[in-house]
Amino acid sequence: MAVTDHVDLNGFMEGVKKRNPHQPEFVQAVQEVAEDIFEFMEDKEEYHSQQILRRIAEPDRVVSFRVCWEDDAGNIRVQRGWRVQNNNAIGPYKGGIRFHPSVTESVLKFLAFEQTFKNALTGLPMGGGKGGSNFNPKGKSVREIMRFCQSFMTELYRHIGADIDVPAGDIGVGGREIGFMFGQYKRITNNFTGVLTGKGLEWGGSLIRTEATGYGAVYFLENMLATKGENLEGKTAVISGSGNVATHAAEKIVQLGGKVLTLSDSGGFIHDPDGIDQEKIDWVKTHKTHRRGRIEEYVEAFPKATFHAGKTPWGVPCDVALPCATQNELLGEDAKMLVANGCRAVSEGANMPTDLDGVHTFKHARILYAPGKASNAGGVAVSGLEMSQNSERRSWKEEELQQMLKDIMSGIHNSCIRYGDQGGGYIDYVKGANIAGFKKVADAMLAFGVV
Ligand code: NDP
Repeated sequence: MAVTDHVDLNGFMEGVKKRNPHQPEFVQAVQEVAEDIFEFMEDKEEYHSQQILRRIAEPDRVVSFRVCWEDDAGNIRVQRGWRVQNNNAIGPYKGGIRFHPSVTESVLKFLAFEQTFKNALTGLPMGGGKGGSNFNPKGKSVREIMRFCQSFMTELYRHIGADIDVPAGDIGVGGREIGFMFGQYKRITNNFTGVLTGKGLEWGGSLIRTEATGYGAVYFLENMLATKGENLEGKTAVISGSGNVATHAAEKIVQLGGKVLTLSDSGGFIHDPDGIDQEKIDWVKTHKTHRRGRIEEYVEAFPKATFHAGKTPWGVPCDVALPCATQNELLGEDAKMLVANGCRAVSEGANMPTDLDGVHTFKHARILYAPGKASNAGGVAVSGLEMSQNSERRSWKEEELQQMLKDIMSGIHNSCIRYGDQGGGYIDYVKGANIAGFKKVADAMLAFGVV
């Protein structure tokens, strides 16, 4: 077969599976994109002959390293760290760092692949990357977390830079961990530079970065509802997770007149029929983030609520749903249940929370369904704005940033409509996001020749 002969979707996916054995999350993410891109590429010979999708689905590089640290009892502990630099066609690699025991090379490759399209959708000059470790921060002392972060950065520093690769936070990595890592980077390199985002406001961070992912997912939801002449006023929302993204999504829903019924963590979900208002959200933020507590303790503080151990919240009837915890937390059966119970819109705060079955169910039901790469792009967008502020050595005002975030989210929404409008009032946001993100990266790659 000549190299320029086309393979079909199945042939392409067979190759991806063969080259990435035991990496189900990565294969799933590539399949979700390839399903739309193959159709789009049908009459575009150059993308085929230049093997663009094949090249985007092969990370530029995957760096894997040992992270040694000493726990409080004096034991030597060994973890694995990674940085996946997927694609830098349109800007320096950019994407978060995740510390969670479920982290594998497959998980980070899927996240870096998704990030490539998401970052392109923001309209800002950022390539796609992701990193992390199988380190479990739960139950660790602050000193242990500090020593781990320092050891992680002692290896990572040689692979990153303000114009090379700019990591941020993700699951298990918040402002505190970014501080420990930035401190170590600065110490090793003697260089105060915008090499990480999500920094503290005193040392180069941006206003609204903390809120941006959750708020952005709700702005995107509002944009989707507006296409049907609706808004969030009086609507019920089911949210999973109780970390950064979930609590800020809840906050924005409440500000816009909606009623949040659920939150969750890896132990189960709480259902509060009275609604989770700002006071309760503040309680969750303090309890989960600062005290590292469990969501089940919510029912002791607010006795009208119920806790459902080991369960996800998708069976609770609602108008809108926001999965904001982790990948593959909303399965085909959950998607069917949501649709059957009258859910009209789903905006993903997490990355790939819906499995392929679920995605197909939402598409088939033609409800308003936004994939994370579009709806949760607000976080990385404000990270991009943090990079600009660092380059300029100044800080923008909160109102300016709020407006920029809103504008970016509606810009992404418009891109999704441009490539995802199926006629008859139905917008396929998955297709729209995949094609818009792919086209920008692909056209840049064409300009560079075979590299
Ligand atoms: P946090 O660490 O702040 O919170 C994660 C939340 O998800 C916690 O409530 C955690 O519960 C829950 N969770 C984790 N794993 C599971 C699981 N297997 N089952 C059920 N619940 C689980 O992370 P973020 O809020 O920052 O991230 C959440 C999602 O949003 C991730 O998919 C992330 O990639 C994505 N995202 C985050 C961005 C950001 O700016 N932070 C940007 C874009 C996407 P527990 O406490 O029990 O572990």
